[in-house]
Amino acid sequence: MYCQKCGKELPQNSAYCPSCGAKAGGYSSADYWWERRRWERERRPRREWDPMDAAWGAVRAVGFLIIIGLTIVLYPDVFVLLFRYLESWGTYGYPVLPPYALGQVIIFLFTASGVWGLVSSGLRLGLSSRLRRPMRDIVSAVFALYVAYTLSQFYGRTIRGAEFVLAFFVGLAVMVIINALITHYVPRRA
Ligand SMILES: [Zn+2]
Repeated sequence: MYCQKCGKELPQNSAYCPSCGAKAGGYSSADYWWERRRWERERRPRREWDPMDAAWGAVRAVGFLIIIGLTIVLYPDVFVLLFRYLESWGTYGYPVLPPYALGQVIIFLFTASGVWGLVSSGLRLGLSSRLRRPMRDIVSAVFALYVAYTLSQFYGRTIRGAEFVLAFFVGLAVMVIINALITHYVPRRA
């Protein structure tokens, strides 16, 4: 059988033309859709393994592991607090904001992660040719710092629980929108 669009010979049992991607006769649209998706995936250039990318990723991950280790050292009862907190959901019947003691752990964790995220992504943006990834990581780091700040305002009784929840979701939505814009407009590399 030959492709009706480009005239190349089609392999047997193929719902699409490997040369131009056109649908072959006698196949359902669903068959074609799946085959076509596979075809597009195979044609997409493979992302090559970049040792510098791996090195940046490793440095970032080690930093975050150190922060988690530090959190456990500074707040040895964090798992008890966390367990009691999750248990309290059962008592109330719905999720509630964490108590003060657990809140302090979360504020520390988010602040340290946010600062490390800013430092590591800022360095990567300045020192490597990558653009998109570090920019997205900076947005996530700013969000972590924002959550830590608003949570501290909640425990400082400057804002109420409902206001914190609202601020959290507004911040989350802003982060998702900014990241989508970065993905759309910023190239992977400089
Ligand atoms: Zn064709």
